[in-house]
Amino acid sequence: MPYRHDLSPHPYFEAISRIKGWPPPGTAALTVGWLAPEHDFPTALPDDAFVDALFSLCAHHSVMRVRSYYGCLLPHATRPAAPYVVRRGGEEARLGSAEIGVVAASGELLLAPNLVFHYVEGHHYQPPEIFIEAVLARRIIVPPAGVPF
Ligand SMILES: [Zn+2]
Repeated sequence: MPYRHDLSPHPYFEAISRIKGWPPPGTAALTVGWLAPEHDFPTALPDDAFVDALFSLCAHHSVMRVRSYYGCLLPHATRPAAPYVVRRGGEEARLGSAEIGVVAASGELLLAPNLVFHYVEGHHYQPPEIFIEAVLARRIIVPPAGVPF
């Protein structure tokens, strides 16, 4: 996944919305957590409630799936193989081949690679507050019935 500065326009979303017919073209969709080793990112120890909510999104609401897996390129003592399988509360999530999407309080769609869970848990990446709030509020992007997303 190429680097994108947090809260940049999503590079593929406009084309996807035109193909799928949803959401309406012109809907603001911003990136979160498109990290790369050559770009610094803010860090903080994550709050447990946020990690729980983020895990639930990754485990149950991943969207925009692709057939390949993206691995984490950030520094590791021992690099885990993709797909990353993470567990929390007796559940499992496979990371690296989809995104998660939430709706900001201000209405923008916020899309992050589901590797964001690993970035937060393993690298203490601190996403923008607008994303943390939307995840904690569990404002998940829900397409209309019949629209694959
Ligand atoms: Zn990593």
